[in-house]
Amino acid sequence: MRLKKIFGKKKFLSEARSILLIFLALAVIMISSAVIELRQSKKELLQLMTTQSHSLLESLLISSQNILRNNQFLKESYRQRMLNNANLVKILYEYGQAQPQILRTLAKENNIQSIQIVKASGQTVVDVTSGGQKFLSNQSLKQLFAPIFTGETDTLVLGLRTNNPQSPYLYVVALSGKNHSAIVLTVDGREILASNARTGFGPLLRAVAQKNPFIVYAALQDTNTLLAASGNVRELEALTDSPFLRHAFDDSLYLTRVTTFDSLSVFEAVHPFAFNGHKMGLFRLGLSMKPVDDINARIYRRLVFITILLIILGGFMLTYLFTKQRFYSLKQDYAVVETYSTNIIHNVSDAIIVCDKNKGIRIFNHAAEKLFGKKEEDVKNRTLDEILGNEQCAQLLGESFTLRQIECQLRDQVKILLVSRTDFAVNDESQNTIFVIRDLTDQKAMEEQLNRKERLTAMGELAAGVAHEIRNPLNAIATVVQQLDKDFEPPEHSEEYHSLARLVYDEVKRINRTIQDFLHFSRPEPLRPDHFEIKTLIDKILMQYQSEARRKKIELKANLNWQGTVFADQDKLSQVLGNLVRNAIEAITDQGEIEITVDMQPNDWLQISVSDTGPGIPPEMQAKIFNLYFTTKAQGTGIGLSIVQRIVDQHNGLIRVQSEPGKGTKFIIRIPRQCC
Ligand code: ADP
Repeated sequence: MRLKKIFGKKKFLSEARSILLIFLALAVIMISSAVIELRQSKKELLQLMTTQSHSLLESLLISSQNILRNNQFLKESYRQRMLNNANLVKILYEYGQAQPQILRTLAKENNIQSIQIVKASGQTVVDVTSGGQKFLSNQSLKQLFAPIFTGETDTLVLGLRTNNPQSPYLYVVALSGKNHSAIVLTVDGREILASNARTGFGPLLRAVAQKNPFIVYAALQDTNTLLAASGNVRELEALTDSPFLRHAFDDSLYLTRVTTFDSLSVFEAVHPFAFNGHKMGLFRLGLSMKPVDDINARIYRRLVFITILLIILGGFMLTYLFTKQRFYSLKQDYAVVETYSTNIIHNVSDAIIVCDKNKGIRIFNHAAEKLFGKKEEDVKNRTLDEILGNEQCAQLLGESFTLRQIECQLRDQVKILLVSRTDFAVNDESQNTIFVIRDLTDQKAMEEQLNRKERLTAMGELAAGVAHEIRNPLNAIATVVQQLDKDFEPPEHSEEYHSLARLVYDEVKRINRTIQDFLHFSRPEPLRPDHFEIKTLIDKILMQYQSEARRKKIELKANLNWQGTVFADQDKLSQVLGNLVRNAIEAITDQGEIEITVDMQPNDWLQISVSDTGPGIPPEMQAKIFNLYFTTKAQGTGIGLSIVQRIVDQHNGLIRVQSEPGKGTKFIIRIPRQCC
């Protein structure tokens, strides 16, 4: 039981351990799947950001190229217009028509700020200004238009120029005129600058950054400086300082990375920008990592939630499993204990009856079933009084005692029972009683038999000595009486004398026979056992006593519930059954029934009973009938049952009598089927 308990505990622990392992494995799977999901979604988000930034950069590139194209177109239209006007001035000049009046009208109508015709010496021949300031001093003009003065070129577009940083910008073109002169036209450059300012990279980048809240910065950078950027950019890592930027710029690659800007984590995408085959710089777009961080934080929160949930669930699950497991092992232990105790209760040789406080039967074991001849299912929940149905037994069981020997009539048999009674409480409310009943009937019979045997032996030995001593004088008396009867003839009453002498002789002989019988009894012959059919023995007895029984109108019959071979002394058993049948015939005065019954009892015990419907034996006499010389018959010797007893003893058997005055007597013999 203890071993089982330990084993059970071990088994329980190993099962609990495997449950824990399964749970941990589940938790690991769930957490790692969440981590994988986190990584995956981060990757997907970065992928998304890459695609998004790529398309943003693409649109930036296209817009930038459009801007450049617009600016170029504007400048080109300016150039064309200015060169056309310069040509007109040149023609007028060549035909000597370049009067200030005409030129002023031309300048006014064409929004030209100034028209100058400058000689190679730096002298200004014509100088017409429609308003605002003129372009540069004569000295500067000489230097600026040197290629025209030297004949190197006849057209020079200087574009936007200013005399000094404080002066407004002018758009300047020059043509070579007659006599190595330069015809210089200027127009207000503010319109171009305004257009540039309106449609340049700066506004583009700012507009893009404003539209998209996730853009932290947008910038165009060349190898030297920051060309344009969204409003919040004060400083950016120089292109030359970063291998990443350098690599993207040099190899014209679209690249992305996660970096920091203003101590913020940003996703940066870069793309080189080229216009008309000329690499102009690198577009850099910094996207906020906030959505990624938000999603990460959300997934982290979910992870924490899953973990807590798992821990709680695991706790519940484990508690449930542990409780269930414990309950199961307790149930098993209980079942084992219950089976053990039930088996013990049911299989002990003593009858056990357990009753509740109302005497309702709860337990009725096999021995009780056998003793009372009732099945447990028939008696359960019925009361003890109901079941015993016998006042004597019921009263005794009902009284309060702890140990008592009682005699009670059970199924036509008087049983000697040792009853132990114990009251116990199952809980505070119910008081139960347990009766342990031991059937002492056989034990008592055995004790009785032993006593008888001892008494017989003692008496026999004493009497044998006396008998032996009596036999010789008796023989002498017999011889003398016989001699006297033969040799002596009295003078008178001769007849009476001889009959008395014969009487003495006969009585001496009878005493001698009795002594002979007794000696025979006290020094029994050893058994000569052999195998024989029990039926043969019974048939022989029936045949032997049938006619005698019939004479007294007695029905002598046999009931062979078992037939088979036994190993015993057949002659001696024949003597036993003969004595019992003869006693039964003698007991029945007129009409009746004698039945010999053969049964096989457990443990190979052969049981032969001889019952009759005679007058029975009074209870007080039942203990004496096996005594040597006890007889109630006038012609009886009182030796028959003693011989029966002796032979049964020799066969290692038991004999007991059951008798009820007025109803009949039953002698029951039990011997081992293989006697000795
Ligand atoms: P005996 O037959 O010579 O008297 P037993 O030893 O055989 O001696 O019997 C002793 C006594 O037991 C009998 O005298 C009789 O009183 C009683 N007895 C034996 N068998 C029966 C019986 N079947 N019915 C009634 N009494 C019996």
